[in-house]
Amino acid sequence: MITLKKLGKYYGANEVLKDINLEFESGRVYGIVGENGSGKTTLFRCIAGLEKHSGEITSINNPLKDSLGFLETIPFFFSRMTGREYIQLISVARGHSNPNIEEQNIFNLPLDQYAETYSTGMKKKLALTAILMQENAVYIFDEPFNGVDIQSNLLINEIIKRLKSLGKTILISSHIFSTLSDTCDRIIVIKAGSIVNQIDPQDFSKLEEQMRRESDSGIISKLNLR
Ligand code: ADP
Repeated sequence: MITLKKLGKYYGANEVLKDINLEFESGRVYGIVGENGSGKTTLFRCIAGLEKHSGEITSINNPLKDSLGFLETIPFFFSRMTGREYIQLISVARGHSNPNIEEQNIFNLPLDQYAETYSTGMKKKLALTAILMQENAVYIFDEPFNGVDIQSNLLINEIIKRLKSLGKTILISSHIFSTLSDTCDRIIVIKAGSIVNQIDPQDFSKLEEQMRRESDSGIISKLNLR
């Protein structure tokens, strides 16, 4: 269980998270949706302990950052580090000294190649493989499906379902509604740094319909396309 109470965040004078109150339970998958710039990544970075903030984040896993795997939208890799070395580093950081890298390389990544030379999708798959090997209690996946091929997308979907069945807490942001509606127990809508809606599965189709209507408001005519 993770509880956020009155969470707030400013970047300079810009208030990017406002009075966020949320609970995330074990064995459940939470989708976070919102326009670009609405605060999803900042929210994730606060939960992951990477940003200072006001308000409180509490968890049964204490300190939370030691039981949390965060897949960032664009994972960072040190230069001159192979995929294998990266996985070893991430595993050793959690005290797993001898990960079975070959067997767990389910995305067939070229482990002896420098990670910084991987494609966007391969980088994401490498970072995901590494945090899964850490056997975390909580996972945050920031746009996990972006830039990743269809087969791997399906695999990531199955991984999320498996993690849920193992009792993990999972937070995902995605712009692909179908991927969220397939896996999530709740979808949380964030707008300009505030939580404006929390939807349970029986109402997912209403939410999708509402989002479609909002994006279909005749705005394209302004482009005057010919
Ligand atoms: P999202 O993930 O929903 O696209 P972000 O959390 O990345 O949104 O951004 C929320 C707001 O915070 C945006 O206005 C963005 O410009 C601002 N922001 C994000 N990171 C920084 C930063 N490091 N410094 C200043 N402003 C930032």
